[in-house]
Parts: sequence; C-alpha cells; structure tokens
Amino acid sequence: FRGEKQFQPVARSQYPQPKLLEQRPTELLTLTPWLAPIVSEGTFNPELLQHIYQPLNLTIGVTVFAVGKYTQFVQHFLESAELFFMRGYQAHYYIFTHDPTAIPRVPLGPGRLLSVLPIQGHTHWEEVSMRRMETISQHIAKRAHQEVDYLFCLDVDMVFRNPWGPETLGDLVAAIHPGYFTVPRQQFPYERRQVSTAFVAEGEGDFYYGGAVFGGRVAKVYEFTRGCHMAILADKANGIMAAWQEESHLNRRFISHKPSKVLSPEYLWDDRKPQPPSLKLIRFSTLDKDTSWLRS
Ligand code: UDP
Ligand code: MN
Repeated sequence: FRGEKQFQPVARSQYPQPKLLEQRPTELLTLTPWLAPIVSEGTFNPELLQHIYQPLNLTIGVTVFAVGKYTQFVQHFLESAELFFMRGYQAHYYIFTHDPTAIPRVPLGPGRLLSVLPIQGHTHWEEVSMRRMETISQHIAKRAHQEVDYLFCLDVDMVFRNPWGPETLGDLVAAIHPGYFTVPRQQFPYERRQVSTAFVAEGEGDFYYGGAVFGGRVAKVYEFTRGCHMAILADKANGIMAAWQEESHLNRRFISHKPSKVLSPEYLWDDRKPQPPSLKLIRFSTLDKDTSWLRS
C-alpha cells in the first residue's frame, strides 16, 4: 500500500480563529464518545481544508455497482459527482456492472478517471448487494491500492446536491443513516438473531450507519470490506441472510472497529424525507425510486 503522505505547512490563509468557549456550530453532536469528529456544515472551514489537502496530490477512488436496471442511475450519479464530489481533486470512479455497454459516457473533468469493471449479474437484488464487500476487497488488493489514497463505496441510486470535499477524508469513515438518527438504539434494525455473525445485543451500538456510504484510507477499506465479507461467508455457510444484508454486517463491524470519522446525514439523505431544520444542507441523497420495479 502507498505510504502515508506528510501534511505540509498550511499556506498563509485567512480564516476565523477557533474559540474554545464559543457556542456550538451546529445542533448536531460534533464528536463521538471515542473522539471521532462528526462532520456537518459549520464544523469545518472548507478553504482551510483546501489549503491543507490540495498540496497532498491525493487521488480519491469511488466504487459503485450498477447491475441490472440500476445502470439507469449511472448518468445522474456521475454528472452530479463531477459537479460536487471532491471537486478539484483527482478522482477515479470504478463502476462494476454486468453490462459495460450500458454505462453512459459522461464527460469528466481533468484528473478524473473512470474504469468500468465487468462482474457477473445476479438474479436477486440481495445477492448483488451482498457481493459488494467481496468485490470491493478483491478490487483493492488487485488494483485500487496502487491507484488511490482514499476510497468511498457508494450506492448508485443517489445524487450529489452540494459539495462533498476533503472534510470527509479519514482512516475509516461511516455515515449516519437518515432513517435512524433520532431513534434509540434498541430500535435500530440490527440483526438480532444470535446465530448470525452480524448479531448486535440490546445494549450495544452507537449510531445506525447506512450501507450506502462508507470509505476511508484504501488499506483500511480493504480490512473493513474483507472482514465484512468473511462474516457474510460464515453466515452463508449456516444458511443465514442478515436482516439488512450487508448493512447489518457493516453495522456489526463498526461497533468493534469504530469509524475514525462519522458523516452526518447531510452525506446520506433520502429524498423521500423532508429536510429537518437540524440539517443545513443535503449533499448526497437517495432518489425516490420505484423499488418494486427495480428489483423485479
Ligand atoms: N445494486 C445493483 N443492482 C441491483 C441491486 C443493487 O446494482 O439489482 C447496487 C446498486 O449500486 C444499489 C446498491 O446495490 O445502489 C444497493 O441496493 P439498493 O440501492 O436497492 O438498496 P437500498 O439503498 O434501497 O437499501
Ligand atoms: Mn440505495
């Protein structure tokens, strides 16, 4: 894996002084009990982060799966990503699909690459989503570890609506699921059967994270996806499919392997929900889609 890049001195830039006793910048929690930042609008200074991260010459990878009817989402996803995702940085989109001819040619900015990677199609949508952890970990080992510094693994049935920048970069990054951020953890839809490797007991859990967004340093994402894949295989050997498939395994693993950075629901929203006042903006959101048609 690529070596750590050294931070460079911050170039002279003007930004407001941080104040230890100042009021909270947001209604949302800004730090987890294990001291990971929770990123939301108002908690960071984009210009300052730009000064810090731009000189590092980073490449950010993105994996997305577009199998079956989900190829229809690729165009909007990529067009919106070119507008908002890590603008001004090098990026490499990896699109996994059963049908490379169905992937539209979206014009990309300078320093932005796209690779289409053929994978086997599956008849059941659960299968497609369950194989993602395996496919991503293999792809990192084979290729992505040489090509990118950070990697985000995203759902394709989503669009970017506002900037997603270097504030999201961290060793291991999770995003809080938009459906459960006001809910007590006893009600999180974790896998509750003890026979599953994704089992979570009543008193366990921090946030309920979405399976549609996770990432981090490429080596960390390798460990993470490989761990999830192993747990999925163990369940499969016992004939078990976790309650929310790989999202259940992701949530189980984030309890024992805490994310070093947590993204607020700004980074994983759902268009079917009204925007609550606690969220100042929506950066990445699920489209309102016809699920029964897509999965048929
Ligand atoms: N996916 C796919 N083809 C399928 C099912 C899923 O390509 O038939 C991929 C796609 O990237 C999708 C992700 O797996 O965004 C997760 O599935 P989905 O978005 O349907 O799950 P949800 O977000 O509704 O839980
Ligand atoms: Mn989705």
